[in-house]
Amino acid sequence: MANFTFVCSECGARYAESAVRYVCPICSTRQVPGGVTRGVLRVELAEIPERWPAARAHDPGALVVFLPVASPVSLPPCRVGGTPLLPVPGLRRELGMPHLWVKDETRNPSGSTKDRASLLVVAKAIEYGVDTVATASTGNAASALAAVAAAAGVRAVVFVPALAPPAKLAQAAMYGARVIPVAGSYDEAFELSIAACEKFGWYNRNTAFNPFTIEGKKTVALEMAADLKPDAPDVVLVPTGDGVVVSGVAKGFADLVHGGLLHRRPRLLAVQPVGSPAIATALRSGATTVSPVTGAASVADSLVVNAPRNAMMALREVRASGGTGVLVSDEQILDAMDRLARTTGVFAEPAAAAALAGLFVALEEGLVARDERAVLLVTGTGLKDVPAAMRRVSIPKPVPNDLAAVERLLEESRR
Ligand SMILES: *Cc1c(COP(=O)(O)O)cnc(C)c1O
Ligand SMILES: [Zn+2]
Repeated sequence: MANFTFVCSECGARYAESAVRYVCPICSTRQVPGGVTRGVLRVELAEIPERWPAARAHDPGALVVFLPVASPVSLPPCRVGGTPLLPVPGLRRELGMPHLWVKDETRNPSGSTKDRASLLVVAKAIEYGVDTVATASTGNAASALAAVAAAAGVRAVVFVPALAPPAKLAQAAMYGARVIPVAGSYDEAFELSIAACEKFGWYNRNTAFNPFTIEGKKTVALEMAADLKPDAPDVVLVPTGDGVVVSGVAKGFADLVHGGLLHRRPRLLAVQPVGSPAIATALRSGATTVSPVTGAASVADSLVVNAPRNAMMALREVRASGGTGVLVSDEQILDAMDRLARTTGVFAEPAAAAALAGLFVALEEGLVARDERAVLLVTGTGLKDVPAAMRRVSIPKPVPNDLAAVERLLEESRR
């Protein structure tokens, strides 16, 4: 028997495990085209561990007792998670925040937090005996699925907006995925991928549509809690697009509270670009539902979405944590990318640097106090988007190959 049940996050209906279970069949009938996804399912574990596993949280497979898999053997042989929680002394000093950490998710195999969701989805595909997994993606979910599928010997098909950063597409193609660029937005690629999965019998990894994406991402919260125990962080800043990462973080902390391993959940701040603001706007306005936007756009391509897929769950979970939404401009994101790299040694893509941009805004708005225990979730590597980095740094012209020329150069820059 499965060690978990699916529970609809909207109507509370419960469903047993099944290889093709995606969203709640009742609530999904209320789905409107171009709207946020209805009837997203939550995984409810039959039993939550009441003790931390004896193995360190950073050992591969140590946290599998918290996951809805039949056996640890199902996990693909891929070193996902176990990323460092960095104390960032330089940034602490600059901000006057003595208890600040960076959770460095750039260290995942394909370079982003998306690897966590892909690991669990591919593990389930293996348990279900499916040989092809497909996803729609703004880029990172595609390269993550491609990487984990390659490690597991499973086929991957990825639907991406044709304008996704080339590095992400190259990565997915290099890992051997079938890359299908779609002439349209991420939202359009999302619908197309669902139709293709139905037609060709592929297993769908689409974020939130596949409930294991939320459950897979919760391991990032388990690791933070394990590293900081017995004290939870007070606040975690989470770059947000579809709202699956922030909901996964919430789920991880909720499981720990439920099992008695943590006494309270940290506040979550969902950071979104002003150009792609659906969830943060709803959080800040007190709305009970999330309205899609049109023409979402930002330098933080991984956060760009008109109708966030996990909007309703994100709204509820962020509020339940005592947190809210934070909006940041593209200029603030690029400044933060630069600042983060210089003060911590972590080179983040714009979406990931949004966590630091959000901290500056949150400090100004009084949403975070400087003596709090705060964690920035830095979700993906800057190596995937070098053109964005080049908007803040420049490489000098070459010098002649002689020492005097170097000396002159150093003198000039001193002036
Ligand atoms: C996908 C992604 C996010 C946001 O996650 P959502 O689940 O869409 O909210 C943040 N940062 C990076 C680097 C991502 O790839
Ligand atoms: Zn339902």
